[in-house]
Formats: sequence, C-alpha cells, structure tokens
Amino acid sequence: MRMDVVTLFPEMVEHAAQFGVVGRALTKKLWSLALWNPRTYTSDPHRTVDDRPYGGGPGMVMLAAPLAAALNAARAAQAEAGCATSRVLYLSPAGTPLTHARVTTLNALAQQGTGLILLAGRYEGIDERLLAREVDEEIAIGDFVVSGGELPALMLIDALVRQLPGALNDAGSAEEESFVDGLLDCPHYTRPPVYEGEAVPDVLLSGDHAAIAQWRRKQALERTAARRPDLLEKHRRREE
Ligand code: SAM
Repeated sequence: MRMDVVTLFPEMVEHAAQFGVVGRALTKKLWSLALWNPRTYTSDPHRTVDDRPYGGGPGMVMLAAPLAAALNAARAAQAEAGCATSRVLYLSPAGTPLTHARVTTLNALAQQGTGLILLAGRYEGIDERLLAREVDEEIAIGDFVVSGGELPALMLIDALVRQLPGALNDAGSAEEESFVDGLLDCPHYTRPPVYEGEAVPDVLLSGDHAAIAQWRRKQALERTAARRPDLLEKHRRREE
C-alpha cells in the first residue's frame, strides 16, 4: 500500500508514523509513505502558501497553486512506484464521516494498486477551486474541528494500515474489533484476577471457549444497545 501526504508539517506525519503497529508495518514494507510540502513548490522569497480570504473574515486560506504542484509531484511519484492510479483524499470537517466500512473499501482499493494521496489542510482551509479540480473525496474524522489535517490523515493511515495482512501480530485481533461485525467490542480483562476488590468474570477463567464466546457476544450486544443503539439497529437489519 502506498500513501503520500501533502502537508505543511511533513515532520509531524513522518514522526508519528514510526510508532506501534503502523511503524512496524512501515519497517516490514507492508506500506510506504512519502511526504510533500507545498512550501517547496513556491517561488517567492517568503515561500507563501496562504493568503487572506476574498470577502474578508478571519484567518487565512491555503493557495491553490503550491498545492496543485505538490499533488502533481505525489501523483508522478506514485505512478513511478507502480501505482495504477491515484486517489486524492482531502481530510476536511465538511467531508463524509469516516467509518469502518469506508476504511475497508479504501484498503481494498489501495491493495489493488491505487495510491492514496492524503491532503492535509491548515488555517481556514483550502481554496475551493483546488478542491473542485483535484480532490476525489473529502473525509471527516468527526463532527469537530482540529487545527490541521495531519492528525486526521494519521488516523486514516492507522486505520488503513492495521487492516493490512501481517500488520497485527495476531491477525484475529482485527476481526474481533469494534465495528467489524457492526457491534462495539466486548470488555477485556487481564491480571490480576482481583483488582481493588473486583474480580474478573468467572466465565473468562473457566477455560470453556464456547461459554466465553457466548459471554463476549452477549456483552458486545448489551454494550452496543446501551451506548450506540443506532449501530445495533443497523446490525439487526443486516442480520434479518
Ligand atoms: N474552516 C474550517 C471549518 O470550519 O470547517 C476548519 C479548518 S481547520 C482549522 C484546518 C484543517 O484541519 C482543515 O482544512 C482540515 O484539513 C483539517 N480538519 C479539521 N477538522 C477536521 C475533521 N473533523 N476531519 C478532517 N479534517 C479536519
């Protein structure tokens, strides 16, 4: 899987991508990362990448031209690396909220040879004309605003990479996580067997795998009903 990120803070993405599951998968070459700073594609002495918004108002807006040049460089590098095509994803609060289902379809696309280019905004956002011309899809990580697209891009990268075969030490982990079968995950316990007077549920110490699976399923259903009735409703409709 090949991913490129267009960002004003490439070091932030590069650094965060070194840790845990994502970092190990990078070392194992299960995916590769390249970073493109739009500032590199400016020609003025100040390396300007933003300007005041037409119509007035607070903040600055990212200029189209340096971003277009950075995106072109990323596309060319992906083609050279063997990607059949590239898909540009802009991380944006106005995008479609990211779900497990969308991560899975993007993962399949990427594994079939589509390079993903993640565009991280800053300031008030990006000139709309650049978005209309260059972006294939806008993705939101939630109904709230953060200061830049780097953390949202890293979240998308993490969600995609952990689905790659070989990324997790135990392949079963990915199949048992929240949202995979439409439910939240069950509660987990580890040692000690009694913590602050509270014991681990007996069934988990029983060694009876069928009973444990049944208990976990029931917990997942109850937790989803209590915390995310919207998910349970969808799950029930799918099961019918
Ligand atoms: N003016 C924008 C608005 O009100 O929708 C917010 C811009 S935000 C301060 C700067 C950048 O952070 C955005 O261009 C986007 O790349 C990123 N960003 C912020 N919140 C996000 C979210 N919920 N999902 C994805 N990206 C987000």
